[in-house]
Amino acid sequence: MKPVVALVGRPNVGKSTLFNRLIRDRQALVDDMPGVTRDRHYGEARWDDKAFTVIDTGGFLTEDDDYFAAQIRDQLAVAVAQASALVLILDGRAGLSPFDHDLAAMLRKSGKPVFYVVNKIENQRQLDDLGDFYDLGIESFYPVSAEHGIGVADLLDDLVAGL
Ligand code: GDP
Ligand code: MG
Repeated sequence: MKPVVALVGRPNVGKSTLFNRLIRDRQALVDDMPGVTRDRHYGEARWDDKAFTVIDTGGFLTEDDDYFAAQIRDQLAVAVAQASALVLILDGRAGLSPFDHDLAAMLRKSGKPVFYVVNKIENQRQLDDLGDFYDLGIESFYPVSAEHGIGVADLLDDLVAGL
């Protein structure tokens, strides 16, 4: 079985945008039709000849949900259990939210490698302004723009190295 990577994060941080970028080559036809991949949760990705399955956990958390309602927590726990590596996506424009701290704690508890990604970073000024993200108790993070593909290669290099 291929290794599994789970993309985790609160709504609107860019999980689906990153997911679609990671599976793009294999889903090119589908991707060309806006909206078609919106509800897809599993996809196949490849980087450096390493094939892996990506889970977009976005369907498990929605704007209206109580994030830590038992059912949601269970669904997220299943994805985390299936994964060999976890990617916590944070919103570099909106900043940290209490949910980010809760999610980070949940992912760390798994004992699996967690890659912290600060998304929506598209210029130097934004890049210079990310110090607050260390409040999450992390040593490093990957600034990326899932939309424009900036920084994604660095993330993938490190991600697949451990798969
Ligand atoms: P999800 O709810 O975590 O799946 O987030 P989406 O992928 O649906 O993205 C939420 C919103 O953020 C959308 O309007 C995206 O266009 C926007 N977005 C996602 N990634 C980026 C990015 O890298 N840069 C910018 N500027 N916007 C982004
Ligand atoms: Mg989504």
